[in-house]
Amino acid sequence: MSQITLIKNAEVFAPRSLGRCDVLVAGDRVAKIDQNIDLPESLGQTVDADGAWLIPGLVDSLVHISGGGGEGGFGSRTPELDVRDAVSAGVTTVVGALGTDATTRTLNELFGKAKALEAQGITSFIQTGSYQVPVNTLTGSVRSDVMLVDNIIGVGELAISDHRSSHPSREELIRIAADARVAGLLSGKGGVVSVHVGDGPGRLSPLFDVVEHSEIPITQFYPTHMNRHESLLTHGVAFTRAGGFIDFTTSTTEEILASGELRASCALKLALEQGASINQITFSSDAQGSLTNFCEQGELQDLEVGAIASLFDEFRRAVQDEGVELSQALQVVTRNPARALGLKGKGQIVTGRDADLILVDRERFQITHVMARGRWQMFDRHVRTARLFG
Ligand code: ZN
Repeated sequence: MSQITLIKNAEVFAPRSLGRCDVLVAGDRVAKIDQNIDLPESLGQTVDADGAWLIPGLVDSLVHISGGGGEGGFGSRTPELDVRDAVSAGVTTVVGALGTDATTRTLNELFGKAKALEAQGITSFIQTGSYQVPVNTLTGSVRSDVMLVDNIIGVGELAISDHRSSHPSREELIRIAADARVAGLLSGKGGVVSVHVGDGPGRLSPLFDVVEHSEIPITQFYPTHMNRHESLLTHGVAFTRAGGFIDFTTSTTEEILASGELRASCALKLALEQGASINQITFSSDAQGSLTNFCEQGELQDLEVGAIASLFDEFRRAVQDEGVELSQALQVVTRNPARALGLKGKGQIVTGRDADLILVDRERFQITHVMARGRWQMFDRHVRTARLFG
């Protein structure tokens, strides 16, 4: 028998504000949203969520789920994602990608890790490809990867304007984007190319160049790390004005901030002030990737690992520190990334869609409960997610 749960009296942000209502979950879907729903005790569980916000599970559009880089040598290889860290951070959907190291990290590993996360209860998609071109693939081509492998939704993270990139030519970028696009159209997926943008002076020029010289629409590219510095942010705002999505990275360190990076929350505020549409901006954690700080001579200064908890933290900062309206800040970590990557049924609380839900204590602005596809993975601050080993 499928599980039935009623969440009562929460203030619901879907991410649009729906006011105080009750949400009924049946199986893995939201069955009903209404002012007053009652559920006989014998039919299922009722949770009183008075004093809480009910929001969609967060969608993290870039996580190096099987580990990212390790730019400090083999001893610095970053570890894979622990599902419990994702759950306690309120992330119910992750999009995994390889990072700087696509030589000792493989797409086979990435695929296996995504399947493990699914088995542990959260939704996990992956990207084919790699930083470098020609891109790595699982089945021999971008087109067959996107079409034939159920959880591959596009390409990423392809690197541009970075000393670690292989500096793809216009033709190479067009070919990859066209293959991803057609495969996406044929298989009902986004087919988007997620792009790592480094701190090189080219900024987003390679993408603008492709859009200008081909029939590839700007939404086929989804550039990340756009809060790396203010000049990149300004270029990103121009990208949104042309109809594209841009992504800000939430994982950072004090050293990286001191060298000019903007906190994602602060970048959001600035981008809105510069006229970007809230509908075109997303946050992702870049968790398990290496947070590198290179000096002007290109030497590595320090290296830390990205944290998935930073996604919720920056959403909270956007509201509490930067004064962004709650429903607006929320869409940046829920509905917008789902739209940018074409993840159907994710990032919104809507009848008939996946029951990925979070309860947030309004007083403390703290996650207390996390439901992924209808099952409580965290209940009253206790992570319940089952792992076979430890
Ligand atoms: Zn990156």
